[in-house]
Amino acid sequence: MSFIIKCLDCGHAAPYFPTSVNCPRCSSQWRQAEYDYDTVAKSLVLQLPSRPFDLWRYRELLPVRSPNPAIRLGEGGTPLIQAINLGMMLGCPNLFIKDERQGPTASFKDRQAAVTIAALKEAGITEMVVASTGNVAISYSAYAARAGIKLWAFVTSLVPAVKMREIALYGSQVIKVTGSYDQAKQVAAEFARQRGLYLDMGARTITSIEAMKTIAFEIAEQVTAALGPVSGNNGKPYPIWRTPDWYIQSISGGMGPLGLAKGFAELQRMNLIDRIPAIAAIQAEGCAPMVQAWKDGKEVATPVTSPRTHIETLATGDPGRTYTLLRKWVNETHGAFESVSDEEAFRAMHVLAKMEGISAEPAAAVAFAGLFKLVRAGVIKPTDVVVVNCTGHTMPAEPFVLGDNWARNVVLPSRVMEETPQEGLLAALNRVAPDRFPNIAIVDDSREARILIRRILQSQGDFKIFEAESGQEALKLIERELPDLIVLDLMMPEMDGFAVLDALRAKPETANIPVIVATAKELTAEEKNRLKGQIQALMQKGDFLSDEFLEEVRSLIK
Ligand SMILES: *Cc1c(COP(=O)(O)O)cnc(C)c1O
Ligand SMILES: [Zn+2]
Repeated sequence: MSFIIKCLDCGHAAPYFPTSVNCPRCSSQWRQAEYDYDTVAKSLVLQLPSRPFDLWRYRELLPVRSPNPAIRLGEGGTPLIQAINLGMMLGCPNLFIKDERQGPTASFKDRQAAVTIAALKEAGITEMVVASTGNVAISYSAYAARAGIKLWAFVTSLVPAVKMREIALYGSQVIKVTGSYDQAKQVAAEFARQRGLYLDMGARTITSIEAMKTIAFEIAEQVTAALGPVSGNNGKPYPIWRTPDWYIQSISGGMGPLGLAKGFAELQRMNLIDRIPAIAAIQAEGCAPMVQAWKDGKEVATPVTSPRTHIETLATGDPGRTYTLLRKWVNETHGAFESVSDEEAFRAMHVLAKMEGISAEPAAAVAFAGLFKLVRAGVIKPTDVVVVNCTGHTMPAEPFVLGDNWARNVVLPSRVMEETPQEGLLAALNRVAPDRFPNIAIVDDSREARILIRRILQSQGDFKIFEAESGQEALKLIERELPDLIVLDLMMPEMDGFAVLDALRAKPETANIPVIVATAKELTAEEKNRLKGQIQALMQKGDFLSDEFLEEVRSLIK
């Protein structure tokens, strides 16, 4: 491991001391590690195949002398999961999820904590201070506990109580600050100054950026394993790794994407990859200073003093210089800054859980809501390879996003039980399920389309769903089940959607069942005329994620 710490302002190069945070020449706190890339490039690819898949497999590119096994918790090495259902829904088949929920404390902050605490332990630190919107304090607490470092965690009072309890469980001192995250940071800094304690500096901490960049390394290795290396090897004895077209992440202070950009840039410098992915950084609308500044073409962001989002994890109101640095990467990679509302994030959270079996915390869901938005806007193309960072798990946030009725209790009436246990049990079970879920018939000759529509509907509520794959089958089914709503394809062999509509409207029992036509076909004026007055809504396929479709379903079913 040979590297120096280079000042971003004056270029001065100094050796690394984890506890000294200022440039010795100009006292800037904006510095980063630089390695002997030519030497590392020669050995790393040869070493990798024999190393375990965790963050330390890239140790030549990390500022820790000898990673102490006694502090490790299995950090890094999270899976890259292909999101087949979501990809199908969005028309982006090469969609992957970097599942950072699978870190030791269930967020990608575990990388930051693992590397930072390892470096601080090497430097002899025994007590430290951190300000956090929750997840940093949880991760740092876990690693500090292993390293025997006492941690003072300053969190805002809006951090969910479950998260605060977890921080305390690890033995950290939790200090609740009633105010914004930016204010909590100030209080923490003052406390550290008064006591002469080491203070974590967020994105200015060398190890933070260094730890986050390992996500880029892993993504490049994993996308290469999934899709094969880039053809041609640049005159090198090893193949060029593949990178995705997009890296999407929800951001608060923006440390993650800054680290990833540095990681990809290092791989490029070592000729291991030939390009850096476009970076999409997604903020919560109620606290989106970077998105605002980027859209206004500004190099410095105006701080948001009172964030208006329920997603506390993302409530950095003043990104400071991180924005300016990140903006450069976003522009250079032709990426994007985007914001989404809390509601869009909560909806994305449900869609992700119900379609992919991945339960993400609202902060992570922000990235998925951003993905939906960028795909819909045509910024992300159907052929693009996309990696979304699923940054954290939902558990602590559940009570907040699920209503009271997420589970139903079975209470067995004891008296009835004694007399007729069978009946009592059945009666109780009947009470668990409501009398009747709304019934929906999906009529489409394409099996994929039916599965897709079924999944989308199921991700939005409880429905009983019937499917028919032809016009004739549809008529029989509809007459028998009398559904509350029909989702109808127009282009089907033999009996098409128009003929089905005519037949339905001709019979009094089915004449008034609402119909949403879902079609991939551009309709002619004459065809549109034929539908007029016959259907409740017309949806182009590929449009299913639009609020319109779901609003339509909800309003028609009432
Ligand atoms: C910290 C955090 C973010 C934001 O990360 P930054 O890159 O620091 O802006 C997003 N999601 C989760 C779950 C987080 O813990
Ligand atoms: Zn300097």
